[in-house]
Amino acid sequence: MTRLLLQAGPFAVQAAWLSDGELTAYDALPAGSLPWLGRRYLGRVAQVEAALRAAFVELGEALQGLLPLAGAGLKEGMTVAVEVVREPEAGKGPLLAPLPDRVIAGRAAPARLAAPEPVEALLRAFARSDLTEILVGGDTAPWRALCRRHLPDLAPLIRPSEAPFADSAIEEAIFALLAPEVALPSGGRLVLEHARAMTVCDVDLAAAARQGRSAVAATNDEAALALARAMRARDIGGLLVVDFLKERGRGAGERLRGILRGATADDPGQPRIGSLSAFGLLELTRRRQRPPLAWRLGEPCPHCPGGRRLAGWWLAERAAARLRGEARHWPGRALTLSAPPDVVALLATAADRLPACELRAEPGLARDALSIGPR
Ligand SMILES: [Zn+2]
Repeated sequence: MTRLLLQAGPFAVQAAWLSDGELTAYDALPAGSLPWLGRRYLGRVAQVEAALRAAFVELGEALQGLLPLAGAGLKEGMTVAVEVVREPEAGKGPLLAPLPDRVIAGRAAPARLAAPEPVEALLRAFARSDLTEILVGGDTAPWRALCRRHLPDLAPLIRPSEAPFADSAIEEAIFALLAPEVALPSGGRLVLEHARAMTVCDVDLAAAARQGRSAVAATNDEAALALARAMRARDIGGLLVVDFLKERGRGAGERLRGILRGATADDPGQPRIGSLSAFGLLELTRRRQRPPLAWRLGEPCPHCPGGRRLAGWWLAERAAARLRGEARHWPGRALTLSAPPDVVALLATAADRLPACELRAEPGLARDALSIGPR
């Protein structure tokens, strides 16, 4: 049973993929945003860098992208049609791929040709042929229309759902994807830390476990499986380095690589798995198109320089989802919602699109605190 949950709310468009009830992928984009992936531009070649085997392409909007040269005779000043295949990140422009018939005779000013709406971007990223059901919260019409246009086989799977993201189990599973730690069945844990050039993954043994050989190997095996799931669900790409627990004897590297290979076989990010180094580190890479989920659902923290916190738009959308659920639960009752001030301020901007409730801004609440109930 594979189920896709979709909702275009006042603050965000959300998509969640559930396999047999387990959340295996999630994404949210701010409502009204222009997602990078899939944008198309008419660009002008600004500079060909033979050493990089790539060209810098002006896209207009004071933006330059990098277009790898596939032996094409690109020259400075030429006009090319391109698509964004990786978001700009850390001061680097977007990575581009050529569109068919990419070199256009004549010179035209750089311009954006097309950009997917958040609804379309999520549907394209999440829709797969093995889906059994698509539950859509709110208005199903835009999703149906998109499905008919791009994925006609999936259109009959769409069903309306009143509040697909109000379920506390789903909310808990989504928050778990944003936490740096993954609990392992034996009591150990896998800790993921996003550094600038790579994601560092550390494996900890359960505090209560004896440092026995079998406990160590079992924890490593669990960590390898958890990592395979986390990479996909949290959309972690680029280089990952895993510090597995030290195992005595030989064969640990091959065993762990085998587990990772098996568990990532159908990952669209196509991970490549290196070998265990002399110091017990395993390197792997996964296709990177965007920063990880936890980063994308965050915003710069106004209180700690360089720090990030959960984004207001995302928390407001979560509050809207919960409010719809509570309004069903307490029909006819007046509701009160308490949340941090910036989240409440956002909610107030869309009060006409939400069930009626009294909003209470509570400074000093935890960032993710939210309480809703009858007055
Ligand atoms: Zn902070």
